[in-house]
Formats: sequence, structure tokens, C-alpha cells
Amino acid sequence: MKKNHKSLQRYRGIALLLVVLSFFLIECAGQEEKTPEPPIAIAIHGGAGTMRKENMTAEQEEAYRSKLTEALTLGHEILKNGGSSLDAVEQVIILLEDSPLFNAGKGAVFTNAGTVELDASIMEGKTLQAGAVAAVKHVKNPVSLARLVMEKSPHVMLAGEGAEAFAQEQGMEAVPNEYFHTPRRWEDLQREKSEEQQKNASPKSLLPGGKPGAVPQDLYGTVGVVALDKSGNLAAGTSTGGRTNKRWGRVGDSPIIGAGTYADNRTCAISATGHGEYFMRLVVAHRISALMAYRGLSVNEAAEQAIRELGELGGEGGVIALDKNGNIAMPFNTAGMYRGYVDREGEVWVGIYGE
Ligand code: ASP
Repeated sequence: MKKNHKSLQRYRGIALLLVVLSFFLIECAGQEEKTPEPPIAIAIHGGAGTMRKENMTAEQEEAYRSKLTEALTLGHEILKNGGSSLDAVEQVIILLEDSPLFNAGKGAVFTNAGTVELDASIMEGKTLQAGAVAAVKHVKNPVSLARLVMEKSPHVMLAGEGAEAFAQEQGMEAVPNEYFHTPRRWEDLQREKSEEQQKNASPKSLLPGGKPGAVPQDLYGTVGVVALDKSGNLAAGTSTGGRTNKRWGRVGDSPIIGAGTYADNRTCAISATGHGEYFMRLVVAHRISALMAYRGLSVNEAAEQAIRELGELGGEGGVIALDKNGNIAMPFNTAGMYRGYVDREGEVWVGIYGE
């Protein structure tokens, strides 16, 4: 009887141990399931400038907000489905280049010669590979040509006729320059020209450091994207028609790696918009990466500092910045900047003014 009681107790002990063990195993399995997915994130801009709520109709505002949301949703889907940050950047920029709302691709601004000349660049943070095109006039989607320069040529930048010839070799669709023209941008050019005449400004006054007020202040619409994919790779891209009434042949910061675009997996991805000559002189995009790498600043601190320094030099504009952990910063010193993001948690946010 005593013996039976003892073995019963032993069985109970073993059963209890098994119950505890299985709870432990279930808990472990649960924890494994809860391991967080690697962060993905995307941020976009559609140009910085003097856009103010009082100057925009509700329809215009809605058109911008919904296009920015559509672009962010597309980019986030690509990243969520395991696509690369490079693909997300290219595809989102194509969408914005095809929209006449923005100063990139269709709807880009006019040069002083009444033509459209486009600049674009793209960069991958893992390899530091980059591609760029400048002053192209017949390439429907300059960002895709920039990517081809990166992937299919030994170069980083091609310009003008050479870039167009390379586009043809690569089988890209050529479009007449008129494809990019829109009445709104034509009116902008006429206004700029007549203001220039009124001020009797010499072309020199359009250079940085020229007469205050001679620089067009109300121009915006450049597009840019920064993205972080599931593999932890950052990418950045920028596309623009430059600035209304720019001297033909002028190239801005957008296709200059380190000025308007930069991506390095160790620090951040950047796309800039604003008065290009200042971004070039301060090498703004790389400056932000360097402030993070060498001074240990956060992406927010580094981006804020670069825009502060831009302002001190007399430049206007903003950047979108994304670090390897999915933190986003979007500082600007203009009245507004078309911008938006989908953060690590999948939250979509779109803004225009200084909200
Ligand atoms: N940064 C562009 C350029 O200077 C223009 C812009 O972003 O508005 O060409």
C-alpha cells in the first residue's frame, strides 16, 4: 500500500514536470512567432517651396495629397512583398514622373530656351553603387535611365546626347520634348521671364549670391524617394526638371551623388529638393551621412543641422532622410514641402505645409 502510494506520488511528480515543460515549450514557440519582422520604411517628397494653404484650392490640395498617398502605398506594397528598396524607389519615382503635378518627367519646368531638360539619380546603400543622368530631353522616365547607367554601364553619370544615345541602346522609349510640356509650366516660364525683364536682371543675378529677390522663389515639384527594405538595404532617388527659366544646359543638385541624393547602409538614405546650387556647394546629402558617421548624430539631428547650414548660406529647400533602423526626418526651411511617409508600423502620413 505504501509502495503504491509512493509510485503514485512519483507519477504525479512526473506529470507535473511534463505540464510545466509543455507550458515552457509553448511559451518559447509563441516567442519565436513574436520575433519582430525586420523594419521597412519609405518616405517621399514632391518638392519644397512657398506653397501656402491660402493659395491652393481644395481640389489642388486633394490632388497632391491623393497622388502622394498613392505613391507611398505603391512603395510600401513593394517593400512589404519583399521587393528591394531600389525597386521601390524606381517604381515610385516613375509614378511621380508620369504625373503632371510634379516637376519631374511629364509636367517638368521649362528652361530659358523653352525646352524641358531633366536630371535624375538613384543610389543603393549596400554597395554604394549609383547612377545619374543630366539634361536629357527625350527620356520618358529619367530615373530608369539613371538605374540603367548604374547597372549596365561602368559609369555613374551620363549627360545630354550621350545619355540619350545610351537610352536608345538600352531599348528605352524616346518621346518628343513636347510630351513633357504643360500649359501651367509654360505660364510659369512666361511669368518668370517678365519678372526678370522688369527687374532688368542680368543672368548673373540668378546665380547664388546674386541680387536678393532675383532668384525664383515659388518653384517646386522635384520628386524624391528614400526606402528601407526587409534585407536592411537603403536606397534613394531624385528626379527633376530643375528650376523654371534655368539657363539651358544648367545641371542642378538632383543628379549629383552626394548633393541631391545619397544612400549608405551604415548611415542613411537622402533625397533633397530646393535651390540646387546651394545643395551642391554644401554637398548636403553626403553631409548628413557624414554627420551621422563621424559625429554620431541621429538622422534627425544630422538632417536638421544640414538644413540649418543651408539656410545660413542663403539656400532654401528640404530633405527626406531615412536611417537603417527606419527612423525618418523631413526638415525644410521653405513655407512647405510636399512630403509623406509610411513608417515602421505601416502608418501613412502626408503633409504639404509647415504642419
Ligand atoms: N533641386 C532642384 C534643382 O535645383 C530643384 C528643386 O528641387 O526644386 O534642380
